[in-house]
Amino acid sequence: MSQERSFSFEFFPAKTEAGHEKLLDTARQLAVYKPDFFSCTYGAGGSTRGRTVHTVLQLNEEVKVATAPHLSCVGDSKAELRELLTLYKDAGIERIVALRGDLPSGMGLASGELRYANELVGFIREETGDHFHIEIAAYPEMHPQARNFEADIANFVRKAKAGASSAITQYFFNVDSYFYFVERVRKLGVDIPVVPGIMPITNYSKLARFSDACGAEIPRWVRKQLEAYGDDSDSIRAYGEQVVSEMCERLLQGGAPGLHFYTMNLAGPSLAIWNNLKLSG
Ligand code: FAD
Repeated sequence: MSQERSFSFEFFPAKTEAGHEKLLDTARQLAVYKPDFFSCTYGAGGSTRGRTVHTVLQLNEEVKVATAPHLSCVGDSKAELRELLTLYKDAGIERIVALRGDLPSGMGLASGELRYANELVGFIREETGDHFHIEIAAYPEMHPQARNFEADIANFVRKAKAGASSAITQYFFNVDSYFYFVERVRKLGVDIPVVPGIMPITNYSKLARFSDACGAEIPRWVRKQLEAYGDDSDSIRAYGEQVVSEMCERLLQGGAPGLHFYTMNLAGPSLAIWNNLKLSG
């Protein structure tokens, strides 16, 4: 297992030219802090294929931070996945975030030739050997569709053993859930780094909606305080920054091998936490 800590920032591909310019501006601000890598999400079923490729290559070549494309297998054929792997490999990309993905409701789960992320990890290894550093997703509070926690842990272990190099977690606000998850998978023979995914708190109603959907719990004491601020967005941001910075501090002190920030294409909220932690730049 690598002893080096890894710090990274995630973006989503913008829908408009103006949004894309904003993303590049954010990325340039964050590049100054010399993160280990950027990553860019991929719409399951290929809905952002062109935009993800364009963004990844531009961040990699122009902003000059190694950038990892996310790749999801539901809804994409093996031929489509192979084509993307070749394109990225030829462009000098060396890291990939391999996911199952979530198809928009109504499209079902069965489309595509690979059903789960462990199959995608195996496919990437078959096609490209050791070329890519493969990141996988981890869920300290359980993936919302898992049968139960134990089944989800078993699925994670299978996915890691299919050839993953490291993992990034879904965001969470409960530090114990992270350490418990790591302890459990270590006992099952998984020794890859599991980097906590960090979601800065900037807007309570959006966060509450998002957290419901992805199964992340906002602890009652945090939720109650955020609710009490109502429309006072400055107070929500300040409180959120304090809560998340303290959480990151505890994670790093407890041995977490880095942090992966869900930037939502904004520099300020992630940088505020970064600066509170006095991480190097
Ligand atoms: P899997 O590991 O395949 O797990 C999915 C579910 O199936 C789990 O409940 C698991 O327990 C269960 N399972 C796994 N294997 C089996 C099996 N063999 N038999 C039965 N059950 C099984 N989504 C996107 O669409 N695009 C993105 O760019 C994206 N980026 C993400 C980045 C990170 C860091 C994280 C944490 C999530 C991201 N997601 C993204 C969301 C992710 O695609 C969803 O959470 C999706 O529902 C699960 O993907 P997975 O790779 O974790 O799936």
